[in-house]
Amino acid sequence: MTVLDDLGVPAIINAKGPATRLSGGPMAPEVAAAMAEAAQVCVDIAVLQARAGEAIAGHTGAEAGLVTSGAAAGLLLGTAACIARLDIGAMARLPDTAGLKNEVIIARSQRNFYDHAIRSAGAKLVEVGLPDRFAGAGVRDAEAWELEDAITERTAAIAHVAHPRSRPALDAVVAVARRHDVPVLVDAAAQLPPADNLKRFVADGADLVAFSGGKAVGGPQGAGVLAGRRELVMSAALQMLDMDIAWDQWTPPPSLIDKALLPGIPPHGIGRACKVGKETIVGLVKALELFTADDPERRRGRWIERLRRIEAKLGRQRVALRDGEVPCLAVTLGAEAPWAVTRMQNGVPSINVDPSEVDQGRIVINPMCLEDDQVDLLADRLRDLMPDPSVEE
Ligand SMILES: *Cc1c(COP(=O)(O)O)cnc(C)c1O
Repeated sequence: MTVLDDLGVPAIINAKGPATRLSGGPMAPEVAAAMAEAAQVCVDIAVLQARAGEAIAGHTGAEAGLVTSGAAAGLLLGTAACIARLDIGAMARLPDTAGLKNEVIIARSQRNFYDHAIRSAGAKLVEVGLPDRFAGAGVRDAEAWELEDAITERTAAIAHVAHPRSRPALDAVVAVARRHDVPVLVDAAAQLPPADNLKRFVADGADLVAFSGGKAVGGPQGAGVLAGRRELVMSAALQMLDMDIAWDQWTPPPSLIDKALLPGIPPHGIGRACKVGKETIVGLVKALELFTADDPERRRGRWIERLRRIEAKLGRQRVALRDGEVPCLAVTLGAEAPWAVTRMQNGVPSINVDPSEVDQGRIVINPMCLEDDQVDLLADRLRDLMPDPSVEE
């Protein structure tokens, strides 16, 4: 890996999954080849986005789609689209939302670090509901009537963070939103696999859905998808694409941008800072193709096989294989768990595990970004860290 050697950057072992902090996962050779090929020619970027959008529409069942620089960029662009719609004056003014609908309603329990992207477009978050269940005090969370109660003439959108445990459930959110003609923007960044989820949120009635392209999809790490209603995707595209062209020369592809609907050409929008290059666009499209064509059971089988090899080296007493959409291995280390995470991270090569359960004395191995030849090394290092290596079956 000469490029990284030249920069003095060591490769790491990623047993945490496709986290941005760890640069995502290794890319399939087909995706890397598509990116290298695109890098060597010039195209009209709007035409490329339009064709990619058609591919995204096919994979998601949405009317239209756009390749973004990540799911967070999709949230920013989606919010900007819900606020400005096709008002090019509003596009020019964002994030100044004076006089515009600028409130985005969100269940308080769904607030997370990524909603900064929604606020970046100029929106003000209106939180509803009390996540009583998380305190153990009660069983309730935000409810559909609370979302409805918060809708005003200033409401630009309802944001929904997709997760099996999200409350209210998306269908209830959509029912409320439809009654008031308010768009629903879904953050589905990490809801893949299953690949079916590419279609699910659109089918459930979401107006816009943001996915990460650099997580399970296996696209370029700095890629994402925004899929949804044609008019909203058109607004997002107008606020992201480069607008250094005069009206008379401007011939955007009609499937992405219908010039007939516009009184003029907006200046660079708030999403111009989220630009994506041709390499990213073709890489994402190729990765989506591979992801949707891959047999989910074969993919899971590959992951489980790697985890079983680690399990075999560590012994079943301390290790539990958890099945699921993405299977993982929980390793019990007790009070040593936080120390073990740091030791593995600071070793050579650096091994990065999922630390989300260290307070319960466990570290978790996620197989998604592990390469086959890293499995034994990881297992050996883990075994060395076991408080009592002799504990085995
Ligand atoms: C990862 C993630 C994002 C951000 O995705 P990027 O593609 O890295 O921008 C947003 N929301 C949630 C819930 C995520 O897990």
